[in-house]
Amino acid sequence: MKNSFHCDRLTRQWGPVLTGLLTQAEGDPVAIENGDAKGDFLFVCEHASSRLPERLGTLGLPKEALESHIAWDPGALAVSRLLAGKLDGTLIHQRFSRLVYDCNRPPESDAATPVVSEVYEVPGNRAMSAAERQARVDEVYLPFHETVSEFVAARKAVGRQPILVTMHSFTPVYFGKSRSVELGILHDADSRLADRMLAVATTGEVAYDIRRNEPYGPADGVTHSLIEYGVRHGLPNVMIEIRNDLIRNEVGQRVMADYLGGLLARSAAALPKK
Ligand SMILES: [Zn+2]
Repeated sequence: MKNSFHCDRLTRQWGPVLTGLLTQAEGDPVAIENGDAKGDFLFVCEHASSRLPERLGTLGLPKEALESHIAWDPGALAVSRLLAGKLDGTLIHQRFSRLVYDCNRPPESDAATPVVSEVYEVPGNRAMSAAERQARVDEVYLPFHETVSEFVAARKAVGRQPILVTMHSFTPVYFGKSRSVELGILHDADSRLADRMLAVATTGEVAYDIRRNEPYGPADGVTHSLIEYGVRHGLPNVMIEIRNDLIRNEVGQRVMADYLGGLLARSAAALPKK
C-alpha cells in the first residue's frame, strides 16, 4: 500500500502517484502551512474541507448535506490557521471532504468512508467497489498520514518534540437534540495536556461550557490521529472539539482562537519538561 505514495512529503519533490481518484489539477490532498515554525505546536485538521473530487460528483447527496457538518467541520480550519499564526505553530490539513475519506479513521474502519452520516445516507459510498475504496485510502488517507508522520519524525530527529493538537468542530444539534457543551477537550491514553487544559480552563472565571471527552470520546473511535501521531511517539496531545455555532463567522473564529491560544500556551507551559 505504501508504494502508492513514495515521495518525500516535506520537500514536495514529487506528487502522489495517481490511481484514478484525484486529477492532476486537483493537486495535493494535503496542505502543510508554516512547516518550519519556530514553535512546537502541530495543528492537524482532518475535516478542514467540504470539497469533493470531481470524479465523485455529489456522491448522490443533496447540496444542503454537502455543505453541512457531515461533509466537514465548519470553522475548524479558520481557527486552526489563527492558532498556528498566534503560537507560531505548523498546520497540516486535508483538502478533501471526510465523506471521501475520514482521515481521523484507520483504513480498516467502516467509518472512514461512511455509508450513513447522522441523518443522511451517502449513496456514493454504498456503491463503491473494493478498488474504488482502496483508491481513497491511497490518494486521500495515506498522503495525509505520511505527511503528519514524517513531520513528527523530522522534528524528533532534530531533538524537538511537537505538541499535537487536532482541531475539530461539532454540530450544535445532533439527531434533533441540542448540545449544551461548547468545547470538548478530548484525549486517549495520554491525558497530560488535556488535564492541564481542563485545570486552567476551570480555574477562575470560566469562559465556556468545557468538558472532558464530550461530545465524543475514545469509545466513539475519534482518537485515531491522537494515537497515531501523538501517543505512539510520546508527544503531548489533545483533540479540541468546538461547537460550530461559536465559530460561524470571522469574529467568532477570532474570539475562539484568542481563547484557545491562551489556554494552549498556558497549559503547554505547565507540562513537565522532557
Ligand atoms: Zn472533525
